[in-house]
Amino acid sequence: MRRRAFRPPLETRPSWWLEEARAYRHDEPAQPLRGELQVDVAIVGGGYTGLWTALALKERDSALRVALLEAREIGLGPSGRNGGFLHGYWSSLPTLRAVLGDDEALRLARASVGAIPAVRALGEDVWLREGGMVKVAATPAEDGSVERAIATARELGVAEEAVPLSPDDVRERIVSPRFRGGVLYRDGATVQPARFALALKRAALAAGIEVFERTPVTAVRDGALETPGGTVSARELVLGLNAWSTGWPLGGRQTNFASAVVLTEPVPDLLEQIRWTGGEAIVDGRMFLHYFRTTPDGRVLMGSGSGRLDFGGRVSASLLDDTDAQERAHQGLRTLLPALAGAPVAARWSGPIDVSADRLPRFGTVPGTRIHYGAGYSGNGVGPSWLGGQILASLALGLRDEWTALPLVGRRTRRLPPEPLRWAGGKVVRWGTLASEEAIAAGRRPSRPARAAAAIPRLLRMPLGTR
Ligand SMILES: Cc1cc2nc3c(=O)[nH]c(=O)nc-3n(C[C@H](O)[C@H](O)[C@H](O)COP(=O)(O)OP(=O)(O)OC[C@H]3O[C@@H](n4cnc5c(N)ncnc54)[C@H](O)[C@@H]3O)c2cc1C
Repeated sequence: MRRRAFRPPLETRPSWWLEEARAYRHDEPAQPLRGELQVDVAIVGGGYTGLWTALALKERDSALRVALLEAREIGLGPSGRNGGFLHGYWSSLPTLRAVLGDDEALRLARASVGAIPAVRALGEDVWLREGGMVKVAATPAEDGSVERAIATARELGVAEEAVPLSPDDVRERIVSPRFRGGVLYRDGATVQPARFALALKRAALAAGIEVFERTPVTAVRDGALETPGGTVSARELVLGLNAWSTGWPLGGRQTNFASAVVLTEPVPDLLEQIRWTGGEAIVDGRMFLHYFRTTPDGRVLMGSGSGRLDFGGRVSASLLDDTDAQERAHQGLRTLLPALAGAPVAARWSGPIDVSADRLPRFGTVPGTRIHYGAGYSGNGVGPSWLGGQILASLALGLRDEWTALPLVGRRTRRLPPEPLRWAGGKVVRWGTLASEEAIAAGRRPSRPARAAAAIPRLLRMPLGTR
């Protein structure tokens, strides 16, 4: 295979999560790579996918020599700046069923529940709160999404995985004048994302994995990696690059959007007032959804998956600091939870998400090489990256097992339209969807052009959005 150059990631400011995690426990960053290194498996990317893969490799064979190379510092990427919703695929059952069929949908959802126990087993304080996940309908247009989730689980014989909540049931958990009915997924927890990423790094170091930070991989070819300070030879290479693999090897199969959040100062009294004390992770039923959760000290994080779209698989500065999407997240807080409208905002930030045509990730091996990759989580990677780690470790070891047999491996996925059509089309659809959802939330009928643009993904059977 010919040499492929990589565009290294841009610098970003640490999220509030990462600052808190570093204040809780300060670990020096690992040294950059200097010189030549020879290992059995080299992993590129120090997010959850790379770290879980490294740990899974050592669990399968403790004698393996494994190196992990991260361009910046662990925790600066999306794995240290996400919303901290930790769950598998029960909440994606309608999508799984449409894409994979009934049996494979159930097999994948069942396999994905190992993520929460695996985080628990790390034995570190990562603010793990197992309060379940709730999807609420905040407008009549969102009722269908809730109803579909409940009906799909019932039809597949797993009604307990998507339990209907009446408007009164929802009010028992959280009071908002906006919320209608909802659905409760028991498979759902929240974490402090950066504490979790740094806990994985410590586990990796303790397992004997050689970790290098401030080590951007600048080029890759089968069996070898180049970095500014030295080279790595490895029989097996694993790319855990998330949005940075959108150009290669997943060009044409995923596109990069921004997701953005605001985090309030502690407001425990206001949370008591609206009865949101159960630690539930909550999403609404929009296509560009709002996601919201609490922290143990009574803060609220509100996120919006409505950020910008980047051209040609880039992760440019506008995705790393999408102030418009951050403002939409703040607006979401004021609209969905008016009792919290005056809560002071402590921090806001954003980051890239890698959205695939069917909103499910894809794992595989570049044909004719020993380069393995996994990406396309589409904004739901905190839990599924554990599954990704199991799959990638098995691929790297050449195993054919329960992990490589999962339907996310080597599957055929739809290609997105080529650039510049992908970017231009994505922008039109995003504008139409946002305009429609905002009009509906304000009690207005969306304009005809907005409705027409928002309908395009449905007509192409290619849903945009983040879940
Ligand atoms: C604001 C926001 C909120 C989110 N909220 C949630 C949520 O609540 N729940 C959920 O499930 N998911 C959420 N996500 C998505 C989730 O964060 C990701 O799916 C998950 O972190 C992916 O992990 P990863 O290890 O695959 O990728 P990443 O965490 O992106 O790790 C990839 C790493 O590769 C490194 N890298 C890139 N190029 C190179 C190179 N050339 N050389 C070396 N290293 C390189 C990057 O620096 C990065 O650290 C959110 C994302 C964002 C941005």
